[in-house]
Amino acid sequence: MTSKAPHRHPIRLGPGGEFDLIRSFLDPAAASSDLVLVGPGDDCAVIDAAPTALSTDLSVEDVHFRKAWLGPEQIGWRAAASALSDLAAVAAEPVAVLVSLAIREEDVSSGWGTRLMSGVREAAASVGAVLVGGDVSRTPGPAVVDVVAVGRARKPVLRDGARVGDEVWVSGALGAPGAALALLEAGRPLPEALRAPFARPLPRTREALWLSERADLHAMIDLSDGVAGDAAHIAAASGLAIELDVSEIPIAAGVEAAAPDREAQLALALSAGEDYELCVVAGAGVLAPLAAEFRQRFGVALTRVGRARAGEGVWSRDPAGATRRLERGGFSHFAAAQP
Ligand SMILES: [Mg+2]
Repeated sequence: MTSKAPHRHPIRLGPGGEFDLIRSFLDPAAASSDLVLVGPGDDCAVIDAAPTALSTDLSVEDVHFRKAWLGPEQIGWRAAASALSDLAAVAAEPVAVLVSLAIREEDVSSGWGTRLMSGVREAAASVGAVLVGGDVSRTPGPAVVDVVAVGRARKPVLRDGARVGDEVWVSGALGAPGAALALLEAGRPLPEALRAPFARPLPRTREALWLSERADLHAMIDLSDGVAGDAAHIAAASGLAIELDVSEIPIAAGVEAAAPDREAQLALALSAGEDYELCVVAGAGVLAPLAAEFRQRFGVALTRVGRARAGEGVWSRDPAGATRRLERGGFSHFAAAQP
């Protein structure tokens, strides 16, 4: 381990158009971290974050985002939040982000790229991470934003530790980003309740660290594919089945604008994805005593939505106790089956 003192400010860059652009990406007043020994501006950043959690997330124009739907700051925020959410998923403490950005010439001259990077910096700063480097290129094609998130995982919570009899919990309420996407694709306006969850999803960093410090979490994942799809990852990694109580799935406010009946809302909550909430698995009775304080502290619910049992796959259970398999992680109206 090095004893070099932390740099509190970015290193000065040389002259030239590319460096002017990079300068515009960096914030001289950016939050610094004791774990960042060398910030942006040299060939490498140097951080002190062991054991180190690493994740990368790619956002491509017209695949992951559309310029007509989101401003550049929001596109940058979402790209960074998605990578940072993966750190939260293993209960890692965010330290740094690196961003590789390919944009068109006109997006440089209009300031679009600089505004996008301000959204990246803001999302990183919201969970205590610092932008420490990256790369930039001109492209004739769609904009590409690749965010690498670096964290410290002293006690990583993985997907493979769920045990038969465990409870499955989720943070927050689900389906809002999926509902927003459905409305935008239909050319309909977004109600206010759906705008923030879609444009500015919050990585559940503090929530994950808080829970992991207070409870023996057996498994955790962030909800990027919908709770049915992400629970399937835990089920497969842990070698068991997960049953979700459909009547307990928390539906986000505003989802009714895109899905009028409960079944359609449930489909969005189970399968639409990009919720960036946490799905947490722990022993029976472990999380219930923390739920009230969790809600008070973070302003979102912690809800028990199911359990782990012997078998494989993800199953829905209705209040009468009837179960059916959720095919390919998605919600299926017709996949009646026996447990
Ligand atoms: Mg993930």
